Amino acid sequence: MALAAVSAAASCSIDLDRPAEGPSAPPPAAVPGDAGASSVGDPYTTGDGNGGYDVQHYDLKLRIDPGDSAKALDGVAEITARATQAMSRFDLDLSDLNVAEVRVDDAAARHERQGSELIVSPAAPLKKGATFKVLVRYSGTPKTVVDPILQRYGWIPTRDGVFVACQPSGAHSWFPGNDHPSDKATFDFHITVPNGLTAIANGEQTEGPAPGDGEGDEIQPPGSSSTPRFTQAAAHADTTTTWRVKEPMATYLATVNVGRFDVRKGTTPGGIPILSAVDPTVFNTDVDDFQAKNAQITDEWVKLFGPYPFSSTGGIVDDADVGFALETQNRPVYGSFGAQETIVAHELAHQWFGDSVSVTRWKDIWLNEGFATYAEWIWGERAGGPTVQQEFDTRYRQTDNREVWDVPPGNPGRGQMFGRSVYDRGGMTLHALRRKVGDATFFTILRTWAKEHRHGNATTAQFIALAERLSDHKLDRFFRVWLYERGRPTSW
Ligand SMILES: [Zn+2]
Repeated sequence: MALAAVSAAASCSIDLDRPAEGPSAPPPAAVPGDAGASSVGDPYTTGDGNGGYDVQHYDLKLRIDPGDSAKALDGVAEITARATQAMSRFDLDLSDLNVAEVRVDDAAARHERQGSELIVSPAAPLKKGATFKVLVRYSGTPKTVVDPILQRYGWIPTRDGVFVACQPSGAHSWFPGNDHPSDKATFDFHITVPNGLTAIANGEQTEGPAPGDGEGDEIQPPGSSSTPRFTQAAAHADTTTTWRVKEPMATYLATVNVGRFDVRKGTTPGGIPILSAVDPTVFNTDVDDFQAKNAQITDEWVKLFGPYPFSSTGGIVDDADVGFALETQNRPVYGSFGAQETIVAHELAHQWFGDSVSVTRWKDIWLNEGFATYAEWIWGERAGGPTVQQEFDTRYRQTDNREVWDVPPGNPGRGQMFGRSVYDRGGMTLHALRRKVGDATFFTILRTWAKEHRHGNATTAQFIALAERLSDHKLDRFFRVWLYERGRPTSW
């Protein structure tokens, strides 16, 4: 995630009196015996995730009608999972939406709601190791997450559709699942939207009209056609597209963006499929420039970080009233502030660091943000801006920057999980490491990290062990003063 240089004004369309879901209500306690745990026990996102199973695949059939305020979403989620213990009930994460039916292995299952938990009791107990399918039929209008610390994210209505950016806890506002990055899975999205709108998700489009094609509200030049477009639109009220994510994805990186978009598809000079989309009302971002920049930066990061981890790259700029961008897998999403070059460099670096190599627990978020910030500095230097050393020195000279020096980025606490220390001191940690072990070893460490944990999960302890192994340095004190101690490091 990256904050925009200029934060968008807060929207007045959200009910601020409504408490943010999740942290305010304690999750139900895990039931002893043969129930899956009601959370993964991550203190940064209390209640998120569940125990007892490992999701393999999400198949989401979503009918999205942004104009229907009562029921913007009508969904059928089919979740394929493997039981990691014997159990007669388990939880999915899902907030607010109405659940009409739950089936497990095609048999009706009992279900109840407790806060953001959907508790499912299959007709027959599940055996340890069994692969099972859960079907959830649900509907409603997802609520935007309004978090006192993290502010407003998740399902964000726009003038012509919806923008979806869910880090860290927004995914269960629009689909049921195991909403924690420690359980990654492949995805299929089948998205039906009113004719005239385009839906773009993660992964590759496998069915339906190409995005940007056949929109029902395009203005026809006079005399160009004897059949007005609206006739066709009336005959085909909906458009369905299917998107497939073949590589494992954390739930918070899932996105579905609906609206009107100018779309460019192609291949980067380095040979990576690319799709860039820009809402034409966002005047500060030209879709061809955006496509070219996404291609150029992706290809440069391949040279620096190793093979691109996913089937395609790109990005989506939407008219969303948010002040951040998020590294949604395959194609990051940017709000109406537009896609500034260093932010694009940041979000695309996340495809390696965050999306492919994902955190196991949120306290290790510097593994995402410190790395993406460092990539941002590298890009800035290449583009003729300050050098990486200057970026480091500027921050290091700010001796009274309490937000950075009082917060250890290796365990910043929930309140600072997206604070400046995680980004700036995280990036500084990498630069200090580079100076200590030398350029060649440093970039070998980054490439090896991306390779050894590709499509998986990792921890800071594993990164430290790798850095020690490849550099042949003892680095426990180095990482302790940079990541885990309060105060500005003075020697390392
Ligand atoms: Zn980021």
